[in-house]
This record gives sequence, structure tokens and C-alpha cells, in this order.
Amino acid sequence: PMTTRDLLRVIADYAAVVAANRTYLIELDAAIGDADHGENLDRGMKAALDRLAEADPGTPADVLQTVATALISKVGGAAGPLYGTAFLRAATSVRGRGELGAADLVGALRAGLGGVVARGKAEVGDKTMVDAWDPAVQAAEQVVTAGGSTREALTAAADAAEEGMRATIPMIARKGRASYLGERSAGHQDPGATSSALLFRVFADVAD
Ligand code: ADP
Ligand code: MG
Ligand code: MG
Repeated sequence: PMTTRDLLRVIADYAAVVAANRTYLIELDAAIGDADHGENLDRGMKAALDRLAEADPGTPADVLQTVATALISKVGGAAGPLYGTAFLRAATSVRGRGELGAADLVGALRAGLGGVVARGKAEVGDKTMVDAWDPAVQAAEQVVTAGGSTREALTAAADAAEEGMRATIPMIARKGRASYLGERSAGHQDPGATSSALLFRVFADVAD
């Protein structure tokens, strides 16, 4: 199970991973977007850490909701509101829980994906973060249905997210800025799918 403390570690570790991958994410976005994804997410996660330090959240839902509001208010562009909505829906799905078991976590990921899709209307194959999230959630659900542990579910999610991220390379973008390039968007890995795969890997590592 994941406690409030574990979840705070996920957020702190993800903020560090985003900072370390800031330039990489900017380069990916430079190829098919406007070269700001690493900067956007880095600013958002730093704001999330500041707010968590002030808010001293007592439950997993409080952590997720604090991150959501920071991302929504501090990050312009597509990814801030998309990630923000994901964290907000995840928060709602675990409201009232003191710690999160495998089924709670998978429910939170499913709710987060629902938020991304509700907000951005992208489908699998559109070359967006949904191409990482959708297979990740499905993989985690399969593990939990088969009676697997939290660690096993989150590891399966991270592996599937990375595969989904790589699968965006040949895709032609149909949503977001990259879609303006049409066929010229093919041959590049989607930045949002990449930052999403990094997030799922952090979840898996903390659950270890
Ligand atoms: P912006 O494109 O506004 O500069 P970012 O660069 O921060 O925002 O984020 C770009 C990423 O957002 C893309 O790589 C893609 O994964 C994701 N994205 C864009 N539009 C959508 C959408 N409609 N649905 C899901 N994800 C999207
Ligand atoms: Mg951008
Ligand atoms: Mg932008």
C-alpha cells in the first residue's frame, strides 16, 4: 500500500526527475511543438512542491489535490491543465482513504486517465500522453485483477507506459500543437507521453 508519505515521495522524486529531464523534454517538444514542455512541467512541479510544503497534507487525496491545483494555476499550455485534471480526478477517486492499496491506486490511475481524456479528447494513436496512460492503466488493471501486488501493478504500468511512449514515434499527431505539422510530426517521440512514462516509472520505483 501507499501512504501519504509515499505519495509525497512520488511527487518529490517526480519533480527531481522532471528537473533532470528538463532539457530532454524541451528538445522533444522543439521537434514537434514549441519547445516548452520541460520548462512548463519543471515550473509546475516546483510550484507543487512549494504548495505541499505549505499545506502539510494529511491524506493521499490532499496530496493529489494540492498538486492538481498547482499544475492548473501555474502551468499554461496543454500539459498543465491535462496533468492537473488527471491529479484532480485521481484525488477525488481516493478521497477518504488513509492509504492506497493496489485496487485504490489502479482506480486512481483510471480516474486520472479519464480526466486527461475528458479534457483533451485524444484517443490512443493520436500521439499524445494518452498513448502512455492508456496502456499503463490497462496493464495495471490486469495485474490487480490477477491478484498481483501494488508493486507488480505499478511496474507493469511503467513498462507499458514506456512501450506506449516509444510507439508514438512513427505516429502522425492528431491532437495538440504537433498536429499542426501533419505528416511531418512522424519520426519524433511525443513529449507528453515521455513525461507520463517518467511519472509511471517514479510510482513503480517508490512502490518497490
Ligand atoms: P503546449 O503544447 O501547449 O506547449 P506542452 O508542450 O506543455 O503544452 O505539452 C505538450 C504535450 O501535451 C504533448 O506532447 C501531448 O502529449 C500533450 N497534449 C497536447 N494536446 C493534448 C490532448 N488534446 N490530449 C492529450 N494530450 C495532449
Ligand atoms: Mg509545448
Ligand atoms: Mg506551449
